[in-house]
Amino acid sequence: MQAAYLTGHGGNEVVAIGERPKPQRRPGEVLVRMRAATLNRVDLYMRDSGAGITHTLPQIMGVDGAGVVEEVDADDPVLKPGMRVVLYPGVTCGRCEFCERGEGVLCTSMKLLGEHRDGTFAQYVVLPAANALPIPDHLDFVEAAALGVNHLTAWRMLVTQARLQPWETVLIFGIGGGVSLAGLQIAKMIGARAIVTSRDDSKLERALRMGANAAVNGRSEDVAKRVQALTGGRGVDVVLENVGAAVWPAAMKSLVRGGRLVTCGATSGDQPGADLRRLFIRQLKIFGSTLGDLREFRDLLGVCERGLLTPQIESRWPLQRLHSALDRLETAEQFGKIAIEID
Ligand SMILES: [Zn+2]
Repeated sequence: MQAAYLTGHGGNEVVAIGERPKPQRRPGEVLVRMRAATLNRVDLYMRDSGAGITHTLPQIMGVDGAGVVEEVDADDPVLKPGMRVVLYPGVTCGRCEFCERGEGVLCTSMKLLGEHRDGTFAQYVVLPAANALPIPDHLDFVEAAALGVNHLTAWRMLVTQARLQPWETVLIFGIGGGVSLAGLQIAKMIGARAIVTSRDDSKLERALRMGANAAVNGRSEDVAKRVQALTGGRGVDVVLENVGAAVWPAAMKSLVRGGRLVTCGATSGDQPGADLRRLFIRQLKIFGSTLGDLREFRDLLGVCERGLLTPQIESRWPLQRLHSALDRLETAEQFGKIAIEID
């Protein structure tokens, strides 16, 4: 089968596009004929280093994805051949303390597609049948694939961790990035007021058109001051951020007393000042979050089924042009998901 796979680490030269063995399905698993996937920052990380993530080369890239069921157990209660499905990207052990208490996302031996095992930039993927969920009717394969990492991550951050409410205000750093855009969509679905930041005015304008209530340019403005002004000196209830050190001080200063900060990334550095005095005096809460569990993914798909949310797709590339798509992701100029279509 055709697939895009890593042969080493460091730049596009290590990304090969060619033949890999078609995976064999065992009982309890599903064989999916892939139709689409999208790019995530972690694809660049895996390409360039992969440090700290147990994997063996060659490994097929791609974390999220969607396709059509090709083979499944005849007595599977949900899946049938020909069904359109989106993949939940984490394969959990089902046996550890965390799996047993229903928190698979904390599984001590979670294996993620495209990180710890062969991923989705391929014509076929095999994984446990429970990891394949039917796609809501009005989403195409690309839109469905886009839900699997960014939207699931943002869902857990805002719905499960921060419990954002309709009467609250959320500050979202770095709009344009996948998780931030998904966060904006989810915040608007909830009915909350959303303030977004970016260093790029054109991204701020697009976010305002998508329903953001206010936009702050992080390059030319003091974000914390502007947020205080926008909230009548009160501050925001929730901050969603994945930028890390570069925005942490502004994030902390933007929170109302008792406010919640939820973070899922640290692209600009992971050792900001802790600002402990502010943390305890103002009784702030900080949540770390990554991905989401199968139940949260079902809830997210339910919201899409009702037509409340459709992922923003920036561009679509054939698998053969993956190198160009990765270059596009690396510029960080995109607004929405960069998708890969698989013939
Ligand atoms: Zn487990």
